Amino acid sequence: MERRAILIRGVVQGVGFRPFVHRLASRFDLRGFVRNQTSDVLIEVEGEGRSLDGFLAELTSGPPPLAQIDEVRWVSRLPRGDLDFAIEMSTSDASGLIFHSPDISTCDDCLAELFDPSDRRYRYPFLNCTNCGPRFTIIRSAPYDRERTTMASFALCAACQAEYRDPSNRRFHAEPVACPVCGPRLRILDGQGRAIDSEDPLANAVEALRQGKVVAIKGLGGYHLACLAGDERVVAELRRRKHRDEKPFALMVRDLGEVRRIAALSPIEEELLRSRRRPIVLLRRLANADLASSIAPGNRAVGVMLPYTPLHHLLLDSLGSAVVMTSGNRSDEPIAHDDLDATKRLAGIADVILAHDRPIHIRCDDSVTRVVAGVEMPVRRSRGYAPLPLNLPLACRRPTLALGAQVKSTFALGRERCAILSHHIGDLDHYENHRAYVEAIAHYGRLFSFRPEFLAHDLHPDYMSTRYATEQHASKALGVQHHHAHIASCMAEHGLIEPVIGVAFDGTGYGTDGALWGGEFLIGDYRAYRRAAHLRYVPVPGGERAIHEPWRMALAHLVDAGVEPAQFREQLCPVARAAVLRQIERQFSSPPTSSVGRLFDAVAALAGLRHRVTFEGQAAIELEAMASDVSTDVIYPFEIDSGSPLVIDTRPLMVQVAEDLGRDCAPAIIARRFHSTLVEMIACVCSRLADESGLRTVVLSGGVFLNALLTHETVARLTRERFRVFRHQRVPTNDGGLCLGQLAVAAAWQERGLDPG
Ligand code: ZN
Ligand code: ZN
Ligand code: FE
Repeated sequence: MERRAILIRGVVQGVGFRPFVHRLASRFDLRGFVRNQTSDVLIEVEGEGRSLDGFLAELTSGPPPLAQIDEVRWVSRLPRGDLDFAIEMSTSDASGLIFHSPDISTCDDCLAELFDPSDRRYRYPFLNCTNCGPRFTIIRSAPYDRERTTMASFALCAACQAEYRDPSNRRFHAEPVACPVCGPRLRILDGQGRAIDSEDPLANAVEALRQGKVVAIKGLGGYHLACLAGDERVVAELRRRKHRDEKPFALMVRDLGEVRRIAALSPIEEELLRSRRRPIVLLRRLANADLASSIAPGNRAVGVMLPYTPLHHLLLDSLGSAVVMTSGNRSDEPIAHDDLDATKRLAGIADVILAHDRPIHIRCDDSVTRVVAGVEMPVRRSRGYAPLPLNLPLACRRPTLALGAQVKSTFALGRERCAILSHHIGDLDHYENHRAYVEAIAHYGRLFSFRPEFLAHDLHPDYMSTRYATEQHASKALGVQHHHAHIASCMAEHGLIEPVIGVAFDGTGYGTDGALWGGEFLIGDYRAYRRAAHLRYVPVPGGERAIHEPWRMALAHLVDAGVEPAQFREQLCPVARAAVLRQIERQFSSPPTSSVGRLFDAVAALAGLRHRVTFEGQAAIELEAMASDVSTDVIYPFEIDSGSPLVIDTRPLMVQVAEDLGRDCAPAIIARRFHSTLVEMIACVCSRLADESGLRTVVLSGGVFLNALLTHETVARLTRERFRVFRHQRVPTNDGGLCLGQLAVAAAWQERGLDPG
């Protein structure tokens, strides 16, 4: 007779791990107990040595589908003569980093019950089991037990209790387990938040949607706003009410068959759509898709997701057609998740509100992803992904908090080799988002028993994230240059240690010389980097304003290239042109930039795309869409000087774009030539830097690489030239993935025993 104490770390709470252990122990005829602790799962088992070995082997080889085991340790103990195997109550301790499961879409077993008239949960919108259901969004504190979730106030009925206690049942210790007798219920409210008496709130919501109304629907991580996707009138009305000028709306579609009627679908895209994480996948829209035109104006892509809660399945099944499912908020505010707050904020936007009484403890937006050249490229990592851990290439010796950037904000906790990235929070310019950011940091601190001893932040002095770090913890805060963090993020994702050539193309990030960087070639690793090449500086007339008025960048680039701007009357806003010209000449409020994002703006504006955009990158997205339809052999000229850093002169490029315009060259051709030119530019500079440094590994990062055409062709070209090329596959290439890089840089500092400052 032997006894072993086994400690398991990883995602092992809230994923049916204890029931699994219980079943396994019975099979091997072992006695003892299993218990969730704050940071891990503890098992003590006794029995014959051979049985114990078999138990351990199966424990690690066949865990439940949602579990992720990172570490197993065991020690021998003296046998105690236990009589049975028990699941004990959870205990807390203060050590280690805890893991929590993300929210998981409805599993096939639950789905079968949902539509089975003989099942006691037939058409029950909140059914779930150990393999699916809400997790992260309902947890109030650790460890994960029903009493510490928002399900605590629902007392289990006798039938649910029996399932919860039965080790052979799929709902054994499923913390959010519920049924029509004891669980949450739907309710329906009018647009002002007043309850409406109803026998069947779901039928009311379906009817309202059919009538062309906007319905707010309480989901897993917040409220959605829904309406029929084929009805142009209601989609345009929703856009108007949300104050969302042109950002695309996502769709929820009943099943894959229906998705195929809307968009082209590759096997990988299909896999992503069906995955338990259920992200919004950006797909190529079919020309004949029956969709309202204002769903994604000027955009070839359409964001689609499949139903991921029982409520969604019931809704889409009754309705039979695709719906818009966009986050329940006004433009740029955080998604509404608290019931009182939601009814206040959604009044005037929604005609009807479909709510329920299971509280959402923490909001979590839908994740967004796309496939570029056969590989996933995340755009927003949130519901279904957060807070799953990622591995770090170097250990954070001290608990480290990385604060991310300003827009598309996320933060990360680092301890040892483990990084936990937060859900998507949004643009911190917005007061409500900033408040949500500060609250989320505190919530993660409690949830993961995490007290940071080292902080990493961006260098930009005006980012709210930088202020958070320096105001609270100036003495232990390390500033990390924006593009260094981008490159480090992509390196960390792939576990790269050796120095690389990093290509960081984005909108803007604060440079060490105070300029707005964004077209950078860096050579380095986590410890240090050298700015090896960058685009020539041009002024950004009006600073932030230029982001919304791309023609300003067109003017700046033309002036820089010595092209007379007067001939481009249509493209350059005639009213403000003279004033902006003076602004450029006097270098007033016109910080210098090397940004590729701003170069995209300039070319897009000259190609006649638009005077104003409603979100950053919009002009670039439209330029990419245009370029995707044509081909070209022509590349615009550019020059690379021989200084250090190398400066890439874009003036010849602009001269040629101007000449093409003068020759009435089609804008799509100009767009295509511009893309090819950037690919050529990256290849030329990388070759020069490879010759000089001997490095053959290239890492691509920054928001510009969300451009599928550019990324696809760059990867193909560099691979042909025998570079090893890496790009983001697990965290966003935009600023949403920045915090991972900040953590990796902080870990490198700690490895050398350095303190910040
Ligand atoms: Zn299930
Ligand atoms: Zn029940
Ligand atoms: Fe960036």
